[in-house]
Amino acid sequence: MYYKSTRDSSVKITSAEAIVQGISKDGGLFVPSEIPSITMDEIVKLGDMSYSERAAYIFSKYLTDFTDAEIRYCTDNAYTSKNFATENIAEISHLFDGTYILELWHGPTCAFKDMALQILPYLLTTSAKKINIDKKIVILVATSGDTGKAALEGFADVPGTQIMVFYPEDGVSPMQKRQMTTQDGENVAVCALKGNFDDCQTGVKQIFGNAEIAAKLEENKLMFSSANSINWGRLAPQIIYYISAYATLVKDEEIKAGDKINVVVPTGNFGNILAAYYAKNMGLPVNKLICASNTNKVLTDFINTGVYDRNRDFVTTISPSMDILISSNLERLLYLMCGQNDAQIREWFGSLAKTGRYEVTDDIKAKLKADFAAGFCTDDETKAEIKKIYDKYSYTLDTHSAVAVKVYEDYKAATGDDTKTVIASTASPYKFSASVLEAIDGKKPEMDEYAMIDRLNELSGYEIPESLAALKTKPVRFSGVITKEEQKDYVLKELGL
Ligand SMILES: *Cc1c(COP(=O)(O)O)cnc(C)c1O
Repeated sequence: MYYKSTRDSSVKITSAEAIVQGISKDGGLFVPSEIPSITMDEIVKLGDMSYSERAAYIFSKYLTDFTDAEIRYCTDNAYTSKNFATENIAEISHLFDGTYILELWHGPTCAFKDMALQILPYLLTTSAKKINIDKKIVILVATSGDTGKAALEGFADVPGTQIMVFYPEDGVSPMQKRQMTTQDGENVAVCALKGNFDDCQTGVKQIFGNAEIAAKLEENKLMFSSANSINWGRLAPQIIYYISAYATLVKDEEIKAGDKINVVVPTGNFGNILAAYYAKNMGLPVNKLICASNTNKVLTDFINTGVYDRNRDFVTTISPSMDILISSNLERLLYLMCGQNDAQIREWFGSLAKTGRYEVTDDIKAKLKADFAAGFCTDDETKAEIKKIYDKYSYTLDTHSAVAVKVYEDYKAATGDDTKTVIASTASPYKFSASVLEAIDGKKPEMDEYAMIDRLNELSGYEIPESLAALKTKPVRFSGVITKEEQKDYVLKELGL
């Protein structure tokens, strides 16, 4: 198997090269040349394996240039109970009839980003070694809150790497901000940007594509890579937990081998749900992929109309990790759906860059409708959902996962579809305590973040994640704020160029 660029199908590189480069020089994203398959027999067998073994099994289908030993080195180091608060790595909670919550937030930073970012540094450094890269790898990250911390935690003090994280000054929760600004490690830097997530992401993409900066890096034996979900090494690990969850449900006799399931994903950059789409196309029996958005519902509109239009107000919500109007990974989906037609992708994404809008063909609209359903909910609906699920099932959702549950309930009510359903739960409620407490207690909590954590502990009974409690006494290391115009110079300065 080799990897192509969505904007130039003639690109032909190995997975190691794709992971090291992060994004293609033509601005496209790397995708495998074909989607490997997995049979129901293979899926059932996964049920008897550890998470690390399941991961290695599935990775071997995508990272065909890696040896088995290299893959096991990566999965064994990432998916251990040293890094995750649970032996199973991803837990499944039974919510109500035929509805399962896939808890992806038992990692060190309490969000699902850990599922990929705990392993990415191993994949990246192994890849670099395989292809004889002797340059220091500089990771630039744009974050809406969770990726930044998860990437910092993954890359802190990893030899041969340096990492810089940009977050929107007013676009992250106080806890997310504190997690990032107190980060340990000699090779890390964190900076707030005056603007929103899209500004951070656009800036990072421009720096990646800047020829003058590239020349300077080359002279100094440095190279950029990405830890955002534009990097294939971020996406591949996310395919695993959907297949793994299915294997567990079969083993636990919640479903029968071959039964279809729905998958609901609270969505921002379209990475997590795209991974589920890959799982489906490998052979996982998925009925509908349900894309859940908050008020920034550009994806809901796109799936329902085939028109992608980012010309709208950006709204700051209580599910900030989904406050995104340019969903990068949609490019990969459309590339697959239009039969790997790179010219078509260049046209649509050129139009997106120029006018903020594109409209797909009728053929693609039909394909979107066949695979996906989409819905959104407001902040008030999100809070009401948290309260309802808490009261009814004594289960405490974070704000992002609550969007998914609400959109799923709306979908079920509208369609009558009673297929068993896995809902991706993307963050611990502790990470968004203020909004979760406001939802449950019915009033804004007037206390500091740590008192909120204690109160949430009383209400939920969930163990307080150690990593969050420890922030209280950690000194802030990074307090810089810059404008988007200053981002390039900031990077050069950090690199000593
Ligand atoms: C990143 C994130 C999302 C959105 O995931 P995408 O892969 O960007 O669609 C949803 N919820 C939480 C908590 C996140 O951190």
